[in-house]
Amino acid sequence: MTAAQRTRVGVMGGTFDPIHHGHLVAASEVAASFDLDEVVFVPTGEPWQKKSVTASEHRYLMTVIATASNPSFTVSRVDIDRDGPTYTIDTLRDLKTERPDADFFFISGADAVAQILSWRDHDELWDLAHFVAVSRPGHVLSTAGLPTSGASQLEIPALSISSTACRQRVRSGKPVWYLVPDGVVQYIAKHHLYRSKA
Ligand code: ATP
Ligand code: MG
Repeated sequence: MTAAQRTRVGVMGGTFDPIHHGHLVAASEVAASFDLDEVVFVPTGEPWQKKSVTASEHRYLMTVIATASNPSFTVSRVDIDRDGPTYTIDTLRDLKTERPDADFFFISGADAVAQILSWRDHDELWDLAHFVAVSRPGHVLSTAGLPTSGASQLEIPALSISSTACRQRVRSGKPVWYLVPDGVVQYIAKHHLYRSKA
């Protein structure tokens, strides 16, 4: 298959508890810079680093709502439908099986990229995707230690938003309008998410 026939697919993995504009800007910026055909958002199943997270279906639906208006954005259930904790190596293997004609670009914020060398089977990640590390306020952007041909860095507009801060704001009665997409604000209110300490 020639390069022209292969699709260029970004992979935006995350807990998305909830999805916010930092995630969406990261995906949009990488899509533009790397000439991607699509970005697939992949909500994690049971994250191995985080003890308690909101039910997968809520996180999946908020991700669908947040991405619905962008024709290049899609959402995958591979991680939430797989039993057990999510490892990125499994995410990429499953996506590759589903789409043998795609070249993958795994999008990671500066905080997450710093952890990659601690991920399961990290030596094999580079065969499955090119890694794109994006800047994030409060974190130093570096791909030190990663293979130079396997990873790139990209400065993106700084949005000082985290899901943790969004959850804390809801819990303390503060607004999350304009930090998360409007439909996600409404979904959070409708399902009474983040009201009590998880
Ligand atoms: P939490 O506070 O629950 O950890 P989070 O805001 O860090 O949530 P995640 O779902 O953990 O969101 O992140 C998914 C991916 O998006 C990670 O690679 C993370 O680095 C990246 N990311 C999250 N927020 C931003 C942001 N504001 N700017 C750039 N990248 C971001
Ligand atoms: Mg995080």
